[in-house]
Amino acid sequence: MTTRVSLHTLGCRLNHSESESLGHQLSQQGYQIVPEDAEADLCIVNTCTVTGASDSKNRQLIRSLHRRMPQARIAVTGCQAQMEPEAMADLPGVGLVVGNEAKHQIANWLPLLDEAQTSPQIVHNKIRRLPFSLPLPLAEEGKAERQLGATRGQLKVQDGCDFMCSFCIIPFARGRSRHREFDNLCAEAEQQVASGIQEIVLTGVNLGTYDFHGQNLVDIVDFLDSLKDLQRIRISSIEPTTVDPGLLERMGDQSHKLVPFLHLPVQSGSNRILELMKRRYNALDYAREVEEAILKIPDLCVGADVMVGFPGEGELEFTETLNLLANLPMGYLHVFPFSERAGTPATRLVAKVSPDEKRTRAARLRELSKRLRHQFMQRFVGTSRSVLLEKTKPDGRQGGYTDNYLRVQLNSTKHESLQRNRLIPVQLESIQGDVLLGTPLPSAETPAH
Ligand code: SF4
Repeated sequence: MTTRVSLHTLGCRLNHSESESLGHQLSQQGYQIVPEDAEADLCIVNTCTVTGASDSKNRQLIRSLHRRMPQARIAVTGCQAQMEPEAMADLPGVGLVVGNEAKHQIANWLPLLDEAQTSPQIVHNKIRRLPFSLPLPLAEEGKAERQLGATRGQLKVQDGCDFMCSFCIIPFARGRSRHREFDNLCAEAEQQVASGIQEIVLTGVNLGTYDFHGQNLVDIVDFLDSLKDLQRIRISSIEPTTVDPGLLERMGDQSHKLVPFLHLPVQSGSNRILELMKRRYNALDYAREVEEAILKIPDLCVGADVMVGFPGEGELEFTETLNLLANLPMGYLHVFPFSERAGTPATRLVAKVSPDEKRTRAARLRELSKRLRHQFMQRFVGTSRSVLLEKTKPDGRQGGYTDNYLRVQLNSTKHESLQRNRLIPVQLESIQGDVLLGTPLPSAETPAH
């Protein structure tokens, strides 16, 4: 009988893209991948450990899976499995724990579950600092997935980080920076495109540091640009100070497929806090980087992660953050309250911020984000832009994203249902909440992105 496997993923985009690739591997090996809420014989939980709160979510999820399906076996992988393998193995129903180093070979370790009747099995190695390659999905399988609805393909090109920011556990949970072999990532990109993917999103922990025998992120985007049937290339997120000028040039070049989108985590606008965080720039450097990019790249969307309530952040430091971001033409902000993670230097800082204060500051920044988002959207009302159409929602609504990350919804009264997973030109007419409403134009007017 075929083993039914459900995959449960917590945390960042990279973790999600890794689970996707685990799913491909497992189905190639004859497992049946079922949705998260379906009955399964085996549940694989891909954990996150970025904060103490993430650890609790992992535990809660594992316990609830065991309650719902006491007969199912549970395998745990990901960042908490790397950091605390024994604690994961002690949870009810867990038969196998696989650390991050062995995560991509998890299929090879699943037979160990048969030996886990008496005690859970742990596969845990020190993460090596070597270039890596990943198994490629079968072409046929990619096609099947396109039929299910994916329009964007995630392409992991890098893992780990050397930056050692004082609040971050990633350099321990995912190891130091290392890079995917260039030929291996190119081969996966070619497969994704052959299976119908229109947009490739480059993922990794610290993408700007990619370096495989002298080939860097610019070489990756140029290779992707040469793939005839690919329409867009997007960089998921990139650290300030690591953006190669060649990337900005390509984003500004209308004939290049690298889209005008820059997610540049700022974390704080206070120099004192940036120093405590051990970030590698100050507020002025950040502002210059954003302004320079905006000048060079027409219609660029710049977004940022911002953390509130880092130890030592008083009203003055918070106001510096607020002012910095209010005075930059940002497209959106992702706001996170600081949450302590055991094992990071930030836990030793004593000037803690109260949970109430963190909530208030987060709400103020989210308000600002709304205003910035609205201003950014407003600039495009009355213009036309290409939208990559996603699967129609159950209520019949259709929409997608522009190259510069505007969420667009098609005006339902003005068009027939359109084929998904293709770029269509849309006249952007008005704003509703955080989406732009628009009407499809005849395809002949489709712009490049
Ligand atoms: S750059 Fe800093 S925050 Fe980002 S993964 Fe590296 S250590 Fe963590």
